[in-house]
Amino acid sequence: MLSFEDARRKVIEATAGLRRIPASEAVKLENALGRILAERIVADRDYPPFDRATRDGFAVRAADCREADAKLRVIGEIRAGGKFVGAVNAGECVQIMTGAAMPPGTDAVVMIEHTRASAKQNEVVIERAAEAGINIVPRGAESRAGDPLLGVATRMGYAEIAVAAQVGRAELRVYRKPRVAILSTGDEVVAADATPGPLEIRNSNGASLAAQAKLAGAEPVLLGNAPDRAEELRKMIARGLEEDALVLSGGVSMGKYDLVEEVLRGLGAELFFDAVAIRPGRPAVFGMCRGRPVFGLPGNPVSTMVTFELFVVPAIDILGGGDARPLPLLKAKLARAAEQKAALTHFLPATLEWPNGEATVTELPWQGSGDIATLACGNCFLVVHQSKLKMDAGEWVDVLPRRGLL
Ligand code: AMP
Ligand code: MG
Repeated sequence: MLSFEDARRKVIEATAGLRRIPASEAVKLENALGRILAERIVADRDYPPFDRATRDGFAVRAADCREADAKLRVIGEIRAGGKFVGAVNAGECVQIMTGAAMPPGTDAVVMIEHTRASAKQNEVVIERAAEAGINIVPRGAESRAGDPLLGVATRMGYAEIAVAAQVGRAELRVYRKPRVAILSTGDEVVAADATPGPLEIRNSNGASLAAQAKLAGAEPVLLGNAPDRAEELRKMIARGLEEDALVLSGGVSMGKYDLVEEVLRGLGAELFFDAVAIRPGRPAVFGMCRGRPVFGLPGNPVSTMVTFELFVVPAIDILGGGDARPLPLLKAKLARAAEQKAALTHFLPATLEWPNGEATVTELPWQGSGDIATLACGNCFLVVHQSKLKMDAGEWVDVLPRRGLL
């Protein structure tokens, strides 16, 4: 059976193989967080735009401060945004604030902490020797006017937002979010706002899949629930294939009424896998149908969540015009020994904490892949790899954070 790493690779290859460049749209900078750039952002001028002091202190001529305890005449002050008129000659200095432009003639800033007032008025004692260039970032050292700062396909995090703001971009061109159709299946499933009969269950997968799609940077398109009847399922799947990708939940196991794979094949889908060596989530299906990536995720809610994170997120990354992000695994110390029997890679509800500053993961006892209540008590999945099913307390192990929580 396919490992989850190989299954991810298949998703990434097949989705990248579509070679689809998304349409772009303009967004205000304040709405650009998490979006993927469809243009380059270049420096509008040199950064910094002037030789900038990085400390509060005194702008000096380093040649005057070759030895400790030089005494200099203070001929003025300069604050951030202020312009110093005149020149600084030998034996003179200017009091300067962080972010101010270096006055002509000066070439170093001595931190105020390394100076003291002299007995003489308008004189300061520079307690330490200073070298030219200290506590200054020269004009253009960070970037030159015209330099590319952010490339096409950059994901806009807060630092990228700051760069765009710095160069005066109030509006950006970004790729349109991929639209991901979400369709749950199951005769027993009713809408989340319905009152279920005694043997019915509310559609929690539709809600969690929409949330996961949003976290991954997609626009969820909720198609509701399809019954376990081929003809109706076929119609709703065909509707889902009008979007950029389709994610189904349920109906992919071995039961008599698990019809998703059969219906997909009937619609001409090319299936790349229909089983992965993981628990929960083993019967996960991935294929291409009418040029759209299609995921048949197992219906047990935790299986649905794990397989979305493993397989759907990288496809959304690529459909959104970016690169597939790596699985964000962390390392933590195992609080209690863990052991699994089945030769699969397990993703188990767990809590990651940092007692005494050391990342520690504690597995939560649970009822299996329907148990979202337990999952919601933690913040991550403990990963027990197929290659090492028995792990001792204190071992460093892999943890898959729950996106958005850690
Ligand atoms: P299935 O994969 O269709 O065999 O479903 C496996 C389990 O997940 C069954 O107990 C279903 O009732 C449950 N399930 C399926 N779809 C959903 C859903 N949309 N929301 C909550 N639970 C579901
Ligand atoms: Mg079902």
